[in-house]
Amino acid sequence: MHEFFLDIITVMQSHLWFYLLTIGLVSLCVGSFLNVVIYRIPKMMQREWQAECRILLAEELKTAEKSPSEVFNLIKPNSTCPKCKTAIKPWQNIPVISWLLLKGKCASCENPISVRYPIIEMLTALLSLVVAINLGASNLALLYIVITWVLIALTFIDIDHMLLPDQLTLPLVWLALIASVFGITTVTPEEAIIGAACGYLSLWSVFWLFKLVTGKEGMGFGDFKLLAVFGALLGWQSLLTIILLSSVVGAVIGIILLSIQGKDKATPIPFGPYLAIAGWVTLLWGEHIQHYYFNTLGY
Ligand SMILES: [Zn+2]
Repeated sequence: MHEFFLDIITVMQSHLWFYLLTIGLVSLCVGSFLNVVIYRIPKMMQREWQAECRILLAEELKTAEKSPSEVFNLIKPNSTCPKCKTAIKPWQNIPVISWLLLKGKCASCENPISVRYPIIEMLTALLSLVVAINLGASNLALLYIVITWVLIALTFIDIDHMLLPDQLTLPLVWLALIASVFGITTVTPEEAIIGAACGYLSLWSVFWLFKLVTGKEGMGFGDFKLLAVFGALLGWQSLLTIILLSSVVGAVIGIILLSIQGKDKATPIPFGPYLAIAGWVTLLWGEHIQHYYFNTLGY
């Protein structure tokens, strides 16, 4: 199995265009699936909570009411138009192209389909290609591409619901730790484990300090787990860079949103997307950024 992967990587290394084309096309299709993930995981979580509440209340009230039995997960039911409920046919599900052919409208009821769907598909392909071009055909590139896909889903779920689901953050922590054991990432397992713990604890401390001083909650527990992912991937040494960079990203995006939306209309933005962007940039260009920091500081 391991040799099979090595063979594939050797072939990809000698046919770089084929590699980039494969990554681009696969990522476009994954982007299409990420749209489903972004829409459905929060809904699945809500259904789970409702089912748990129903069980809890039924026990108290002794009226065992049945919860809705129809299946709802990432595969089932098939996608439908949210307005007229017409099933989406396979040819209407081709990334980007279908949206353009349909001119951004449902084929049956002309209900507009958000431009966000093709944008997420193109973004997924584009960011995956940036990773592939930067790291070539390697195990590390494939790992970072998978991480990129999940980060995109996390970013948009956080924007929509102020939520970073455990189902998406925790597997990335385990994936990063295992990758360090197999020597795929550039850190030792010790650095990865300490990185994950310090990543979680650093934001956890900021959270409680902020809450004790101001009485407000500045971020959520999902943010701690997301920083733990980057700590596990890059080691504890990179955490300070990521935190500093995410505040820079936050300031830049904040200023842009303020100038677009105006001061009173500006909506509060969750911290997750800033962290995801800063962490992703550090994955690819962290060493350059650290050199730049230390050079300007005069070390
Ligand atoms: Zn429709």
